[in-house]
Amino acid sequence: MYIVEIRDKIMTNLKDTEKVIGIPRAMSFYNNYPFYYGFFNELGIKIVLSDVTTKQTMSEGSALVVTETCLPIKVYVGHVLNLIKKGVKNIFVPSLQSIDNKIYNCSKIRGLPDLIKNVVKEPCNIIEATLDKSEKNQGLYEFLAEAVKPFGITDKKLIKKASKSGWRCYNNFHIMSKSGMPYSKALSYALQGKVVISADVKEHPITIGLIGHGYNIYDERVCMKITDKLEKMDVKVCTALQLSAEQLQEGISSLGNDKYWANEDEMTGCAGHYLKDNKIDGIISITAFGCGPDSLMLERITRKAKQFNKPLLNLTIDEQTGEAGFVTRLEAFVDMLFRKKRAEIVNKLNINTEEKQKYIPNTEYIETK
Ligand code: SF4
Repeated sequence: MYIVEIRDKIMTNLKDTEKVIGIPRAMSFYNNYPFYYGFFNELGIKIVLSDVTTKQTMSEGSALVVTETCLPIKVYVGHVLNLIKKGVKNIFVPSLQSIDNKIYNCSKIRGLPDLIKNVVKEPCNIIEATLDKSEKNQGLYEFLAEAVKPFGITDKKLIKKASKSGWRCYNNFHIMSKSGMPYSKALSYALQGKVVISADVKEHPITIGLIGHGYNIYDERVCMKITDKLEKMDVKVCTALQLSAEQLQEGISSLGNDKYWANEDEMTGCAGHYLKDNKIDGIISITAFGCGPDSLMLERITRKAKQFNKPLLNLTIDEQTGEAGFVTRLEAFVDMLFRKKRAEIVNKLNINTEEKQKYIPNTEYIETK
């Protein structure tokens, strides 16, 4: 009761405070931050981000929710606590219900503000704008208006102008990502208002499609720097960010279903496309233990991968996942891809069996092992 009273008091005094919004570096941050950055900055609202994920973020978040909760939600709770420790009073915890007509997020994402209000006991003000495109009058502008109302901003023209800045930053980020630029580099340039296109000229013997939600594959602590690890093994990594909306949609259809989950592009959309792509040697998926939507999507992906004879490795993560086992599985998978590729190259060569057995193609990773 006492906590609720303090929260209400903060809410009432919000207009008097400095315009500062805390954004947890988790969940939708990995998809929407370029937009939020452009939008809030245009309105003069200062953004404070939580620190990057650490072991402590995970353990503090895990301590407040039931064990069965998926890792990304535990991490999110940890980031909210981190913002509170930094002294941020107003924390943006959007309720992203539905991003298009009849296309929904999972129940944990939809109920995020309620979960945070129930488990976080420290006083803070949760700014919980709702985006629900399956309901009337709850589209993007209503969502944005709700997000800035606590700061006393209600001018529709101003909000519309700020949303244009948001889209500019978001689109710049996507242009650079599509050109193949790594996630953090593209994000950094986009936040500086730059668009830099640099072609990746390095030849890689192996290319893999990495599928998973942004919060699972771009949070370096959660995914244990999988992209860096693969690049050190001479593997090129392609993700959903390199694909257009049409390619992702077509990827979902090729797995035989209509889009239902809001974040399905990153799983079935991306996998459906890369499974058919001859330049992709194998697929790695990262999913959180206990994730209902991902287990359903992964089942469809696995069946299709068998049909296409495309190697697939699924790595399930939770807060107990050890790095040593993770690396061993990655190395074994990459090794298998190299040997498969080697066999394909050798079989095409016009040489006798004895020479074929001795032949090693130019793949540094195998030769130096
Ligand atoms: S989609 Fe899965 S991983 Fe993401 S929040 Fe929902 S249950 Fe957790």
